[in-house]
Amino acid sequence: MSDMLSGLESLGLGGMGKIDIFDDPAKEAQAEAAKKAALAEDAAKKAFLDEKACILEKTCKCRICDFQFKTKTVKTGKAKMVSQDVDLRPRYREIDSVKYGVIACPICGYAALSKNFDVLTSGQAALIKEKISALFTGLPEAGETYTYDDAIQRHKLALVNAVVKHGKTSERAYLCLLLAWLVRAKYEELESKGTPDAAKEVEKLKAEEKDFLVKALEGFNEAYLKENFPLYVLDEQTATYLIAALNLEVGNKEEAMKWAGKIIYNQNASDRIKDKARHIKELAEGKQ
Ligand SMILES: [Zn+2]
Repeated sequence: MSDMLSGLESLGLGGMGKIDIFDDPAKEAQAEAAKKAALAEDAAKKAFLDEKACILEKTCKCRICDFQFKTKTVKTGKAKMVSQDVDLRPRYREIDSVKYGVIACPICGYAALSKNFDVLTSGQAALIKEKISALFTGLPEAGETYTYDDAIQRHKLALVNAVVKHGKTSERAYLCLLLAWLVRAKYEELESKGTPDAAKEVEKLKAEEKDFLVKALEGFNEAYLKENFPLYVLDEQTATYLIAALNLEVGNKEEAMKWAGKIIYNQNASDRIKDKARHIKELAEGKQ
């Protein structure tokens, strides 16, 4: 560009001679993108610090190989739940506590839901030694917080353990439910970053989430008929509600309405869960 604005030197504004008269849209867009990236980086840093403040390291002793190791766990009462998905997935402001629900031995590969980690018969231990520990090559060390990939890997390991030790159907179903939640959280994270080539990965993850929801439903249907309540941690009303919700999520609208009805017309159900069941019924009827 020529020096169109020359002649201002005598006013002390000699440096202005070469400025652009109009804003350059490409430059504006670049600046906007840089601002967004900086904001996203700040948000990620804050999220990391919030999450770190919510977890503590706890020492565990493996029931299979006696190895002592540190595991991450969520501090009690630290995170506040802000909402819940229709299938009861909790959402917290500071942390996704679902990531920390499994304890896994880094040496022998024994893994289970935290509540079940110390519950193991000698027969189950023998099965895990033979079918998992004998092949296991070690768990990669995680950073200061778990990523969704860390959490998904640990939950899948716990699910394989539950199958090998012939764990209860409800335990396996619950792990499938947690895996559906984690996979959902992973694609939501990808979507929120707005990565341009994420669409394919998101599609793949959505299909994986659906597979875990279908398996969770299959397991809870069976456990509902064969096991005593609670089904892992779910009392009868919650399990009934969850089966309604899972049916809705996998597209079985008639079944969703049927299971929601079991709560709506149950005199013993609380108003809170009845309201949630009515919401499922409305969603299944396409009213919302
Ligand atoms: Zn071990």
